[in-house]
This record gives sequence, C-alpha cells and structure tokens, in this order.
Amino acid sequence: MSKLAVLGGTRAVPEGTTVPRWPIVTDAERAAVLGVIDSGRFTVAAGGEQEIPALEREWADRVGVGHCVAVANGTIGLSIALAAAGVGPGDEVVVPALSFVGTALAVAHLGAVPVFVDIDPVSFNLDPDALRAALSDRTAAVVPVHLHGLPADMDEIGAVAARHRLAVVEDAAQAHGVAYRGRRTGSLGDLAAFSLNASKNLPTCGEGGLVTTDDARLAGRAALLRQFGERLPARGDRPYRSELAGWNGKINAIQAAFTRAQLAHLDEWALARDRNVRAFLDRTAAIPGLVAPTAPGDREHGWHILRFRLLPAAFDLPETAGGALRAAICRVLRGEGVPASRYQSMPLSRQPLFADGGPTCRRSDVPVTEAVVADSFVLQRVHLHPDAGPLLDRVADALEKVWEHRATLAVLARAQHGGDQVAA
Ligand SMILES: *Cc1c(COP(=O)(O)O)cnc(C)c1O
Repeated sequence: MSKLAVLGGTRAVPEGTTVPRWPIVTDAERAAVLGVIDSGRFTVAAGGEQEIPALEREWADRVGVGHCVAVANGTIGLSIALAAAGVGPGDEVVVPALSFVGTALAVAHLGAVPVFVDIDPVSFNLDPDALRAALSDRTAAVVPVHLHGLPADMDEIGAVAARHRLAVVEDAAQAHGVAYRGRRTGSLGDLAAFSLNASKNLPTCGEGGLVTTDDARLAGRAALLRQFGERLPARGDRPYRSELAGWNGKINAIQAAFTRAQLAHLDEWALARDRNVRAFLDRTAAIPGLVAPTAPGDREHGWHILRFRLLPAAFDLPETAGGALRAAICRVLRGEGVPASRYQSMPLSRQPLFADGGPTCRRSDVPVTEAVVADSFVLQRVHLHPDAGPLLDRVADALEKVWEHRATLAVLARAQHGGDQVAA
C-alpha cells in the first residue's frame, strides 16, 4: 500500500500534471473574435450585427424551440425570463435550496420572494414533493435547476405547475441542451436561462447567457427586457422609447462569435466527456465508501460538476461524522494533487445575504440539502476537456488510494469530529 502524500508519500496525480485548459481556444475562436473586432459591430443594437442573431437562431434550433434571446450572463437571463413570465415584487418563486447563488439572486433582484425547498438525495435536484408542500396563494413560478448537468424531474414539476398555474423557468446554466425523455433542457419549461460563463460546458471568452422559449410573446418581452425596455426597429432610427422596466442585459458580439465557434464542437466534446467520465465513474462506483453520481435511463447527464457523497458507516464512523470525513478526505485528496472542493458550503437559505435586513425569502428545514453539503465533495473543471481521460485515471487512483487508507481517514475524521462536538 503506497503512503498517502500528506504523510510524505508520492502523489497519485504526479507533480507538474497539468489540467487541460478550458475553454478550448483554437484558430476558429481566434478568427471569430477578430472578425467582430474588424467589423466594428459590437452590440445587438449596432445596425447589421450578425453574430448575435446567428447564435440565437442556432441555439434555438439546437434546443428545439422557436426563440432565443442572448443576454449578458446567466443570472440576468434568469431575471429576464422570470420578468418576461410576469413575476414581480412580492410574488413567491420556488427554488431548490442547493444551487449556485445566482438562482436565488435572480429572484431577489425582482423584489420577488425566493421560497427554498429541499432536494432529492440522489439526483441533487428539486424534489417535486417539496415543491407541492411549499405552494401558497402567492406562488407565481418555480425555477428547477438542472444541477451539475442532470435534468430535473421536469414532467412531475410541470404537472404541479400546470395544476397551480405557475410559470416554469429552467435554470439550465449547468446543462446545455441535455436530453430528457426525448427533449432537451431549454425546451422543458415556459422559458429557460443558460450561462455562457467561461467555466460552463458551453463557454464564451468571458460572460454571456441565452434565454430560450417556444412562446413568441415571451421572447418578445425578453428582447425588450434586455434592451432598457426598448423595442428596436429592424431598420431606421432608434426611437428611445421604453415600454418596460428593462435592464441593460445585452451580450456583446465578441462573446456571441466565440460561442458560435464552440458550438461547432459541442456534440463531439460532450461525447468525449461522457466517455471519459463514465469510465472514471465505473472505477469510483467500485469504492464502497463513496456514492458516485449517476444518470437515470430516461435522461443524459451533462457532467458539468461531479459530486460524490461519502458513507461514514463504510469508514466505521457514526452517521453524524459525514462533515468531518469529507473535510479529512478533501485534505488528503488535495495532498494527492486532486482539487476536491465543496462548491456550495451551505443551503441557499442560509447564505448571509438572506439574514435579517437582506431580501425577503421563505425558508423551511432542508435536511437533505444540509446532509449533502456536509458529506459530499465535488470535482469541477478537471474533467471538462475531451482529453481529460488520463488525468481522470490518476484521480481514480487517488480515490482508490484514499479507500485503501480508510482506517487512517477514520482516525483523522474522528479527531475532527470529536473537536466539532467539543466545540458545539
Ligand atoms: C453559473 C450559474 C448561474 C449564473 O450564471 P452566470 O452566467 O455566472 O451569471 C446560475 N445558476 C447556476 C446553477 C449556475 O451554475
């Protein structure tokens, strides 16, 4: 048994191993960006600008909807989508307690009230029963998040929404056109918002977002809401007349052109990622102390983030030691050269921004979310590149090594857990 790197052994991921760079930049991306700079047309409001409408058409086709409105980022995309659907001050919007904070901020920025509900312990997505339990006569919308790249239970959520006349706005920031029961994310609600942030599976060289919908009226409202509430004429002078309290939520043409170049490779790179990640997860699924992520047979997984839960009992630890075990394993894994992290360290409902004096929200106990943020860790970015296979093999070596050393990990976790209890 080779020694743990934190105890002076050799790293499972050798020193100097590089994580393949993301996003991938080829001559096509360089040419696309230079083309915009040379054109002198930088925004959607510039007469004759072509990259932004082309991206919108290509993305709408790919998702399988009639309309796409490109925006400045995913967060403002969510706000625009909710506002287009008619959500406003005082309306309640149901949001899963486990997500990136942008999901909740997009609601709060409208003066609407995020209502945080619990998640499913396996998919990590919004639990449809929790949605049902959270409904009130002020509920106006639900924002299912396709967290980590796995589509949420959209048929069940859609059925509740239809019965109670709620708008459904998908947060698809982590799931770019992922298949769910024969359709794609972005076409599964009334509207959807995607992020094109450089860290996402469909990136741009900076910040961007895409709002999709099959409803021409909602698309028209979204287009006004990104442009100061103004309706831009197809040709002729800009009238400077605002019909809605919109934002400046415009994407710029450089961002659109870069993402169009990425689109040409999206399928090929997603296939390679799926192959690499599934081979990696085949190895990690054989480790008894770990619960590796999975995808149900009726949907794909975009594998944006890989989240592993830990089973304290397999390490001879009490159930309550999940947090201490996760802390010990993250420390040991980082020693082995694996950038294991927590991502969200608390439910959205406990983010300091919602403390007294902050925006209004409605919260209830979210025991599943609390357990998941305590006893799980994630891998981000390292697996996105199509050539990440060899690196993932070394990461699997590190996880197997941790399992071989489970007795040592249990000692480290027990020391921390005892400390936690003394402190508490
Ligand atoms: C990234 C992300 C967002 C926000 O997107 P930005 O483009 O960064 O504003 C919203 N929701 C989720 C789940 C995300 O991962």
